[in-house]
Amino acid sequence: MASLELDTPVQYVKGVGPSRAEQLARSGVRTVEDLLLYFPRRFNLRRQVQSIKTLRGDEPAATVAGVVRETNYKPFGRKPYFECGLDDGSGWVVAKWFHGGYLKDRIKSDMHLAISGKVSVYRETLQFINPRWEVIWDPAGTNLDADELLPVYPTCGPLPSGLIANLIKRILPEASRLFARWFDDEYLRRRDLPPRPAAIAAMHQPEDNAAWTLARRRLAYDEFILMQLGIALQRMRSVSRPAHPLAVSDEIDRRIRARFPFGLTAAQDRAVGEIAADLARPRPMNRLLQGDVGSGKTVVALYAALVAIAHRKQAAIMAPTEILARQHYSKVEQYLAKSRVRTALLVGAQRAAERADILEKLAAGRIDIVVGTHALLSEKVRFRSLAVTVVDEQHKFGVRQRSGFKAKGYAPHCLVMTATPIPRTLALTVFGDLDVSVIDEMPPGRGRTETRCIEKSRMPEVIEFVRGRLADGQQAYFVYPLVTDAGNSQLTAAQSAYEELSKDAFGEYTVGLIHGQMPTAEQQSAMNRFAAGEVRVLVASTVVEVGLDVPNANVMVVVNAERFGLAQLHQLRGRIGRGAENAVCILVAGSKNPIATERLRVLAETNDGFKIAEADLRLRGPGEFFGTRQHGLPELKIADLIEDYELLRIARRDAFAIVRADPDISAPEHLTLRAEMLKAYGGRVGLIAEG
Ligand code: ADP
Ligand code: MG
Repeated sequence: MASLELDTPVQYVKGVGPSRAEQLARSGVRTVEDLLLYFPRRFNLRRQVQSIKTLRGDEPAATVAGVVRETNYKPFGRKPYFECGLDDGSGWVVAKWFHGGYLKDRIKSDMHLAISGKVSVYRETLQFINPRWEVIWDPAGTNLDADELLPVYPTCGPLPSGLIANLIKRILPEASRLFARWFDDEYLRRRDLPPRPAAIAAMHQPEDNAAWTLARRRLAYDEFILMQLGIALQRMRSVSRPAHPLAVSDEIDRRIRARFPFGLTAAQDRAVGEIAADLARPRPMNRLLQGDVGSGKTVVALYAALVAIAHRKQAAIMAPTEILARQHYSKVEQYLAKSRVRTALLVGAQRAAERADILEKLAAGRIDIVVGTHALLSEKVRFRSLAVTVVDEQHKFGVRQRSGFKAKGYAPHCLVMTATPIPRTLALTVFGDLDVSVIDEMPPGRGRTETRCIEKSRMPEVIEFVRGRLADGQQAYFVYPLVTDAGNSQLTAAQSAYEELSKDAFGEYTVGLIHGQMPTAEQQSAMNRFAAGEVRVLVASTVVEVGLDVPNANVMVVVNAERFGLAQLHQLRGRIGRGAENAVCILVAGSKNPIATERLRVLAETNDGFKIAEADLRLRGPGEFFGTRQHGLPELKIADLIEDYELLRIARRDAFAIVRADPDISAPEHLTLRAEMLKAYGGRVGLIAEG
């Protein structure tokens, strides 16, 4: 026992052995450290123990402790039961468990037992019926005078909470020897945090609620600080190469704005100001630009690109799909018509000769702005002087594509755009190495979008409503999730709906179909025909989520809306209300599951993307929110991204200060932190492991 270390296999803890070790391993507990960090899920409050002679016959919750004097099992009769008598020296009480056969091998005479529950009187005898019971660990040593918090551990397969509690109790005294301190007293005092070893002990055996809260706060802080140290290191690396400073003079600003047929909104102005300040520095910009679909991010991104051009440098704009790249490109061409800015589009599906020509011009500096897909990241793409890159992530948010532009020498300034509103807490985590600009205002002249939630049984009314809108000359989207209700059909839900709707409900109109399995060219042509007004109803899978901009389409029906994430529905909804007309979004719930419909109600209540994103995060948790675990940050077991937001900010501030003062975390006072960083991230943060 004396030789236990943190990395000792749990099997060598007294009371474990090979088979329990295997069961523990299934819950991720392999070492002594894992076991000590396996925390209770909650605590039961054991009421202060009273002596049996003070019990009255009508107590709703009493606790007594004593020696088991006698046990009795009655397996027959209408209600079989097990009972025992408990003696604490002051008196006697009976504890009775109906259907308690399972207890006859567990509760034996001469055991020390504490029981709590409701007291009643039966045939003039005091008794507890079905009380909670616990073998007292050490009757002599247990302080039965005070209320006690009994830890309840998540069970490990067949291992009950009580057994886990005893294992931990045995090794807990070692915690202060085993766990290193991460910070000195002064550091902790200023943040009102207890030392880590004490916090770990208090997580298992807190004095009281307040002590537990404090301990939890400390461990949450530790998770946050590791995460933020990783982010701070990443940030340091990304700005370690110099960038071309691109100052924005009044003249440059005026010339760029003159390109746009409208004045910028206040929110766009703010974003442009923040970007201009970044670009003026000799360090690369790393900025995230977020704003709802249609809020005017493209214009802001183009502004940044044009600043590069004004300095006779190049800019690249990268979109997640070919369709979006083409759309960005046509916007760029439109704004830059009659200017001398040389533009090009680079996508995967181009002819070899055309492509070779573009590559040559990019390398020679004869193209100023290139718009494209990830084809832009190919080895073959060389720039003469790339100074600004824009990465439009749209819905691909979360799957970070580290901008891998091949730029020699100076690093380009980088702007990442996303239409997914990111809860502020995630902005500090997943996008924590970026500065953030937010466009929280729509360009003027937009209609309002009203959202309604209805049940599927009312679909005929919906169809009638849409027919009315079509008769007024408007266009409509019908959006379907990927799978069909039947689930066994070869067709996607959108395909089978298309066949029905085009025949019956909208027989007299041209109905179009678009889904992800169609070739890009067909998708493109379906979109073009819808945009031209030739197709009046577009039946779609979620591909319309990105890209489409059709101001005349102001009705959207989302079928089986409960199968979509809130953030995704919000993005879908952003496809309508792009013109001056008021728009209507109808969310058709396919299931009567109240939680599913409750979720949809959030959308009917607010158009604020950030509120929706936060609700989504609460409902689904961060892993689901991203739909991926690829964000590469250590998992949070204790900290809660939403509840602990203030603590996250403190940890972030501290982490950035540490990295500023000690860029490779190698100072003697940071040795423990360094080791913990290596454990959490391995080589991913570029710390040299030897150390
Ligand atoms: P996002 O990229 O954020 O989805 P876009 O940049 O594509 O949004 O802009 C959406 C629409 O709004 C475009 O048609 C654009 O021309 C228009 N727009 C952008 N900014 C303004 C503005 N300040 N005033 C008026 N219209 C604007
Ligand atoms: Mg856009």
